[in-house]
Amino acid sequence: MSKLVVVGTVAFDAIETPFGKTDKILGGAATFIGLSASHFNTEVGLVSVVGGDFPQEYLDMLSNRGMNIEGVEVVKDGKTFFWSGKYHNDMNTRDTLATELNVLADFNPVVPESFKDAEVVMLGNLHPAVQLGVIEQTPAAKLIILDTMNFWMDSALDMLHEVIAKVDVITINDEEARQLSGEYSLVAAARKIHTMGPKYVVIKKGEHGALLFHEEQIFFAPALPLEEVFDPTGAGDTFAGGFAGFLASSEDYSFENMKRAIIYGSNFASFCVEKFGTERMQSITPEEINTRLEQFKALTKFEINA
Ligand code: AMP
Repeated sequence: MSKLVVVGTVAFDAIETPFGKTDKILGGAATFIGLSASHFNTEVGLVSVVGGDFPQEYLDMLSNRGMNIEGVEVVKDGKTFFWSGKYHNDMNTRDTLATELNVLADFNPVVPESFKDAEVVMLGNLHPAVQLGVIEQTPAAKLIILDTMNFWMDSALDMLHEVIAKVDVITINDEEARQLSGEYSLVAAARKIHTMGPKYVVIKKGEHGALLFHEEQIFFAPALPLEEVFDPTGAGDTFAGGFAGFLASSEDYSFENMKRAIIYGSNFASFCVEKFGTERMQSITPEEINTRLEQFKALTKFEINA
């Protein structure tokens, strides 16, 4: 079976949306990525750090869902990364209210021996220095995927550029693509980001879907129109997890297969937003996944004479 290394935050989140407010609940980029990637036929190894305040039951949940958590360091006298955000009424934009790095501030990632030969590496959102550390420990990787956000562009841009130069795929949201490239048009932004290193650029547009760019080719996948969206937190990471998990399990990293990976990513993201935090991601069944894949097909299928 193929192996997928996932690095990213395992965190506490406090979220406010027009539908309600949560206290500290389970969140983090690696958590959401792992929860969707673990649906595929690939071994998922998480690399992250938490504090002594992190409940054992959360760690148990991650391993019960099939993730290898040997690479999740527990710093007994430290505090877990904490993020808090408030969504606007459109649910597509949010303000970050707090980002407390805590144990993440001096984290040295250690990829477990058994995952050093992983074929696919998913660099989830966290400090680019940690992402670089993971790249160095996974020399056999055939596909390296990077996700990042404005926080790291603002605070560690030079190092982020070092990471971007080393990856095959970058997944980024539309506003961040504009910030990184200095271009308003997403086509121009993708073109510029290609010159920074990644051969594939995925631009996530929230409820408006996702675009995949490769050389002169472009593919677009819609997001599934949903009647109820409770909490978009983690949708981007969940998308990345589905994308990476599918590619790792199929061991085919071509543009054609990446189109399918984008649909899988969008499919998982459609579940993530239906409940607060990770709740919905913990209960998806294979039947539900297949039903929604059919909905994706129906949504984009049409006949026309041209
Ligand atoms: P998303 O909604 O996909 O952008 O991801 C939200 C998740 O990312 C939350 O669960 C947060 O814990 C985590 N997060 C927020 N800010 C950061 C950051 N600066 N670095 C790493 N992870 C973050």
